[in-house]
Amino acid sequence: MLSRDFFLFNTENHIEVETDDDTILDQVEALCQHYERMLSCFNPESELYRLNQQAGKTTPISDELAEIIEAALFYCQATDGAFDITMGTVTRLWNLQDRIIPCREDLAAALAHVDWEAITLSGSAGQRTITISDADACLDLGGIAKGYITDSITRLLKQQDVARAIINLGGNVAVLGEKQAGKPWHVGLRSPLPSSSMSTLTCFGVVEIADASAVTSGIYERAAEIEGVFYHHILDPTTGMPAETDVLSATVIAPQSIDADGYTTALIVMGAKRALECIESIDGLEAIIVTTHGDVIGTSGIGETIPFALLQS
Ligand code: ADP
Ligand code: MG
Repeated sequence: MLSRDFFLFNTENHIEVETDDDTILDQVEALCQHYERMLSCFNPESELYRLNQQAGKTTPISDELAEIIEAALFYCQATDGAFDITMGTVTRLWNLQDRIIPCREDLAAALAHVDWEAITLSGSAGQRTITISDADACLDLGGIAKGYITDSITRLLKQQDVARAIINLGGNVAVLGEKQAGKPWHVGLRSPLPSSSMSTLTCFGVVEIADASAVTSGIYERAAEIEGVFYHHILDPTTGMPAETDVLSATVIAPQSIDADGYTTALIVMGAKRALECIESIDGLEAIIVTTHGDVIGTSGIGETIPFALLQS
């Protein structure tokens, strides 16, 4: 196995690949840099940044960005707008790292431009266009990009005849193949505590998966306590405020990473009961939720189709 660490997408990434060809890891890293350049919200050169400047007009768009947005719109609909990629007007007002909290008036003004139904994609491969009917709308793909990128890395590795690999983009994990013949990979699920409070990352449980992805979203990271109030980075599209939720962390396990990532953010917004019902109703998807009461609740396939062990802390 060769491994590599790199910082992109505002997070630490780690890949391990069964190969002795270092250039395969170079290709993975180059692919990630390509997506960073395409999807960055802060780089004025990125395709997404330029697209946001063009809201209100019909704009040509690369096939790949069209594919990401098209997939994202599916989850906006499937979660009844709990996940909404037009949350960009709202998410850009928040900066918890610098302890910046928007005022009510600014939030209300930003929320008026949140509506995924304003987006229309047209055209066929090579000639795709996008129309965002609201000129002040802003797309934020931060809740789904890593899922898409992870699947793209898996595809690249398969094309290179790699049989086994583990990809971890800041907690967005996918495994290719099994760890060894007949033995799935053991993937640790991170305890819902801020990294700053742990000297090493601790896990509350382990799932056993092969050719699958496990993605966790939580309210414990990119969070801050300001004047006695706890704020986090998963925002409720109805209020623009951090979701008031009984879900500390939500993990979704799915054959494709984009499915897992597409749902996790929304599960936090939905709250535990609705989140579990949502995933239970979808074939092939399972979820594990850690609640603010300290309960760990899985959908019916957890411990059945997906072996799961709770770890003592
Ligand atoms: P992480 O960033 O920890 O991998 P997520 O996949 O849950 O976790 O993505 C969270 C990001 O999604 C936020 O940082 C923000 O950019 C964006 N976001 C926050 N709330 C929403 C929402 N309700 N719908 C869509 N995107 C959101
Ligand atoms: Mg997500």
